[in-house]
Amino acid sequence: MCGVFGAVLPPGSGTAAASIAELGLFALQHRGQESAGIAVSDGAEIFLYKDLGMIAQVLDERRLPPLHGDLAIAHCRYSTTGSTVWENAQPTFRLGPRRPLAIGHNGNLVNTRELLEQLHGGRARLAATTDTELLTTLLADEPAADAVDALLRVLPRVRGAFTLLVLARDSVIGIRDPHGFRPLVLGRIPDVAPSDPDAAPWAIAGSTDGWVLSSETTGLDIVGAEYVRDVEPGEMVVLEPGREPRSVRYAPADPALCVFELIYFARPDSYMEGRNLYEVRRRMGMELAHEHPADTDLVMPVPDTGAPAAAGYAEASGLPYREGLVRNRYTGRTFIQPSQTLRHRGVTMKLNPIRAVVQGKRLTVVDDSIVRGTTTKQIVALLRKAGAEEVHVRISAPPIYHPCFYGIDTQIATELIASTSSIEEIRDFIGADSLGYLSIQGVLRALDLPYERFCFACFDGRYPEPVPYDSASRKFMLEEPLVTHG
Ligand code: SF4
Repeated sequence: MCGVFGAVLPPGSGTAAASIAELGLFALQHRGQESAGIAVSDGAEIFLYKDLGMIAQVLDERRLPPLHGDLAIAHCRYSTTGSTVWENAQPTFRLGPRRPLAIGHNGNLVNTRELLEQLHGGRARLAATTDTELLTTLLADEPAADAVDALLRVLPRVRGAFTLLVLARDSVIGIRDPHGFRPLVLGRIPDVAPSDPDAAPWAIAGSTDGWVLSSETTGLDIVGAEYVRDVEPGEMVVLEPGREPRSVRYAPADPALCVFELIYFARPDSYMEGRNLYEVRRRMGMELAHEHPADTDLVMPVPDTGAPAAAGYAEASGLPYREGLVRNRYTGRTFIQPSQTLRHRGVTMKLNPIRAVVQGKRLTVVDDSIVRGTTTKQIVALLRKAGAEEVHVRISAPPIYHPCFYGIDTQIATELIASTSSIEEIRDFIGADSLGYLSIQGVLRALDLPYERFCFACFDGRYPEPVPYDSASRKFMLEEPLVTHG
């Protein structure tokens, strides 16, 4: 996960780039809630501010000074490498002997240890324990003419999932890895007139359009930008004030977009692969109803993310749709909380059944995933306590058998209930009367796109990029070198 947003405005736009980046990031809050930050360049210096917490807490204009500069990137974090500490918040920043750089990263590298070895034989002093910090250091130190040149030299050595926004003094560069595991879209804000007539000294005549890069199209919507196109897997898009975007291909595309982005992670009002995700999820629910019908009184979602699939299930089955659980929207998403203790407390803090809806009823409860099973178990128990007669659980995705190494924190297979239990054992564990998962074929029918365009590895174990063997220690692998050498 993680959300990234970048903005480049015409020369002399004052503080607008920072404001647009902050606003865009708000539409990506669901992608990461551990920390947030912004980096702004005025063409000479890069200013960085970051902290632990939600975006509204961190990027509070009452605390932040006015951020002048026509280039800005912003990031919200969900950790997959390194602990949730201030040092690991992003954007990262490195002054470097060659160039100052700030980076926002969505994804997870799979050859972090190898890259660390390349950096002074593994004895480099890193300011943080993330793969992003390592990448920032590699790029800032690379003997190259400029940031694009440094990226062209370094990126071929980097493997794994990386959607990056790189802020140099005079450019914002948006990059997707050759598989394009994580999304990134380019948007245009037409005809942004500079508010400051004294354009920066490095200004050139050219476009007065503003350009933005966002993890999801929702980021474009909130800032009033029009969608231009997706950044392609294996492509860099270089944005410079006053110029049209420049495309640089650094590797052939071998697309494998994370299918979970479409099933669950991204917002339903986002578009990916030319599909609106609400519609995709609604069709997944319809497929689920065909594959696993249930003889019940009503269909209800686990809010919020299960709602589109539940609507589709109800539509296809002819059963009434009701909302039987209310989510407290102010406590964050369960799956994103980093520790098991918080996860456990989170469910009861976040969901409350509507007794009037569920009491005495046979329920079909639709959700989009079962990861560890503990959340679903608590939901079933909540509904039974509220008087539900039967609880039939339907999941609008296949069982998660395999860990993800590409940016989702499920790197330890034994934490995944489906990797150690049969469907019947899972049903028994969660306490449901029946349990049904959508098949991979069902997902593909709902997407109406070929299997080859996506990563399905957590469902079928076919990893598009080879993954490391020492998976159990991956998340904190850079903490030991930091202690030893730092
Ligand atoms: S392994 Fe699963 S969660 Fe990870 S990128 Fe692939 S589809 Fe997405």
